[in-house]
Amino acid sequence: MTVHSFVKGANTASHLRSPAKRKLDERSRGTAASPAAETVPRTTLRLPSSAAFHNKKVQPGSQPRKVNRFPIGAATREFYRLNYPGTSADEWNDWRWQARSRIRSLEELERIFDLSKDERAAALQHKGSLPVGITPYYASLMSRTDASEPLRRTHIMVPDEHIRMPGEEDDPLGEDHDTVVPGLVHRYPDRVLFLTTGFCSTYCRYCTRSRMVGNPGGEYNFSTSQWEKALQYLEEHTEVRDVLLSGGDPLSIGDDKLDWLLTRLRKIKHIEFVRIGSKIPAVLPMRITRDLVKMLRKHHPLWMSVHFTHPTELTPEVTEATNRLADAGIPLGSQTVLLKDINDDAEVMTELMHGLLIRRVKPYYLYQCDPIKGSSHFRTGVAKGVEIIKALRGHTTGYACPMFVIDAPGGGGKIQLAPDSIVGRDGDDILLRNFEGKVYRYPDPGGKLGADKPRARLAAE
Ligand code: SF4
Repeated sequence: MTVHSFVKGANTASHLRSPAKRKLDERSRGTAASPAAETVPRTTLRLPSSAAFHNKKVQPGSQPRKVNRFPIGAATREFYRLNYPGTSADEWNDWRWQARSRIRSLEELERIFDLSKDERAAALQHKGSLPVGITPYYASLMSRTDASEPLRRTHIMVPDEHIRMPGEEDDPLGEDHDTVVPGLVHRYPDRVLFLTTGFCSTYCRYCTRSRMVGNPGGEYNFSTSQWEKALQYLEEHTEVRDVLLSGGDPLSIGDDKLDWLLTRLRKIKHIEFVRIGSKIPAVLPMRITRDLVKMLRKHHPLWMSVHFTHPTELTPEVTEATNRLADAGIPLGSQTVLLKDINDDAEVMTELMHGLLIRRVKPYYLYQCDPIKGSSHFRTGVAKGVEIIKALRGHTTGYACPMFVIDAPGGGGKIQLAPDSIVGRDGDDILLRNFEGKVYRYPDPGGKLGADKPRARLAAE
């Protein structure tokens, strides 16, 4: 670990703080590699409209074409000038250029980052699914020098990834067991998980589907003929009313193909509700083009769950992406995995949840990290998640509080964990503890809830 090399002259106290919290402190002092979105001067790119580009006259009365503006944070701009000289701002803001230019090899990693010995050894040892994959944009948010920096830890492998601890599985949620046709998981009566692709624009080292993503020759060979089989299954199963498109990342699919899939799903009368699960707004925000949102809004009601990890991700680019989606009427919820020394800190989590809210994303799930093979270095104790919820609930806006859940290994589904607020019972009153730890009565004549607990002393008594 090169914790101390990240901030020159940082004081000892800051070194004693958790890496996740220290990163926030560095950002507020403006010493981190990637300044907070709010501290970055906002620069707007203006691409030529197609009329201007082709030197066409705009007809009087016609709507001027909307300019495809995307801001670029100052640190990101500096990063791409340094590491991708000759790249124009238009290219940088082209999601296909970003996808093509992903960092995918040890050579490229070493060109961008000062790799630690551990990172280098792990990259050399890696084979199979979940390869390294980082968009240049997302790399611009990471520290070049500090291997313990939160976002870098989530995307560059270390040797711990190759250690399988007791209880860890390749498929801890038992998705393969509930797969009814390749890529379609039908566990709950009224809803399905539709795995649309094995491709992601970045590969998270703690991915629940690490067994299959980024592995085109592997277990799942995604294709439109496979989609057809899934669609046929859905047409026949009238009990399914809710489809979650996931993967891989569904937003990595081109507009036409995704439009085709959504249109086919919308033609199935009993499907009321479609959700898309994606990390793209956080790691490749320029994918949220105006054409994409125009296409998506044809398929309402459409919801989106967006995967966020750390406040460093909340850049001006991400603000633009979530605004575009929200303006298109797509309700946005967040999913965050609780990760050791990355975001397992109440202050970090509060900043992330507040940042999401103001970007019109409702914090939805905080997940205990799934016990996939090689995840022990990412997993916190379960108590940490409850402690974080305790620090949020009542202390900040209710909308900013996600549900803390464990996706039960073996296919048990999501189980919510929350601080226990039922203290006990006193006759017709239930005794409840509030966020300050004080106990209050609520009249509940004839109720039984809390009767099995010993009577607690009321704070008021
Ligand atoms: S974006 Fe999602 S599916 Fe892709 S690697 Fe990350 S967690 Fe896994």
